[in-house]
Amino acid sequence: MLWTAFSHLKSVAVEEITVEEITVAVAARVVSREAPCPGCGCTSSRIHGRYHRPLADLAVAGRKVVIEILGRRFLCGTPEGGRRTFV
Ligand SMILES: [Zn+2]
Repeated sequence: MLWTAFSHLKSVAVEEITVEEITVAVAARVVSREAPCPGCGCTSSRIHGRYHRPLADLAVAGRKVVIEILGRRFLCGTPEGGRRTFV
């Protein structure tokens, strides 16, 4: 059930799952080294930074599930892209 939350992400590695009395905290990391640019279609492997984002709030078996993704921000590899960044 939990993994449906990741179905739209290609390469996610779960690093840590912490189960507490009322919450389940899942820390995950995006492991892809490159990503297609939505602006010009180039494939970029120029990592520009990282970001955290809460992915979903779910409830499983009465526990609140908090998923946090550590993702990568990529920089468009095409000069015409205007240093566009995307995730
Ligand atoms: Zn691009």
